[in-house]
Amino acid sequence: MIISNNLIKKVVVFGPQGSGKGTQAEIIADDLRLPWISTGNIYRQHIQRQTELGKIAAQYSKEGKLVPDDITNKLVAERLMELDARAGFVFDGYPRNIVQAKYLNEIAKIDVALEIAISDEEAVRRITGRRICSCGMTYHVKYNPPKKEGICDKCGRKLIHREDDTEPVIKERLAIYHHDTEPVLDMYLNQGVLVRINGEQRIKDVADEIVSKLNNSEFAKQ
Ligand code: AMP
Repeated sequence: MIISNNLIKKVVVFGPQGSGKGTQAEIIADDLRLPWISTGNIYRQHIQRQTELGKIAAQYSKEGKLVPDDITNKLVAERLMELDARAGFVFDGYPRNIVQAKYLNEIAKIDVALEIAISDEEAVRRITGRRICSCGMTYHVKYNPPKKEGICDKCGRKLIHREDDTEPVIKERLAIYHHDTEPVLDMYLNQGVLVRINGEQRIKDVADEIVSKLNNSEFAKQ
């Protein structure tokens, strides 16, 4: 995978839960040698370490609800001040609504917004088999299993079945996605930076579609 369009430095990746946006965001970040910034992962690390922020985030994420915007925006602004994010970044899970998107507009100019699209039915099917690692890697028991069952390929830690990966919580999160996040996609469409990807393919094919659209489409000439 090589994204040769060197205008692409500031990327946001969207997709409903289970779309594989985390997997693709990590692949893209590796390819572009930019930091992969997942607000969900940052919150999970805080929850695990039981920090003050973690205690607040846990109350919301357990029920599939969003952490308040002012808290999330501050977290993101601080993350973007770090040296590794100077050249660019690949956001995963942020912005999640118009308030966050407008805030991000003020502090960074997005080059490309990728939407990894899948149906709600596919999302529910995939999420029940999802397993994650505290290092940020994501697996699926059937579609993307680790080499050794229950163990992360990358760091060797034990995989976790997320507390918010149950069917009622997923349905709540999908409803939030449709209601709050889809208007953000319209905003990026109007800015001319939205690229839509079919997420109902194998991981490698999704990645290939991303590369070919970013390198070859009209988009690359902008
Ligand atoms: P994710 O792994 O992206 O699905 O995020 C897991 C949980 O972290 C969400 O259900 C929210 O509670 C919280 N979270 C992650 N990103 C955001 C965000 N951009 N705004 C508010 N809450 C977030």
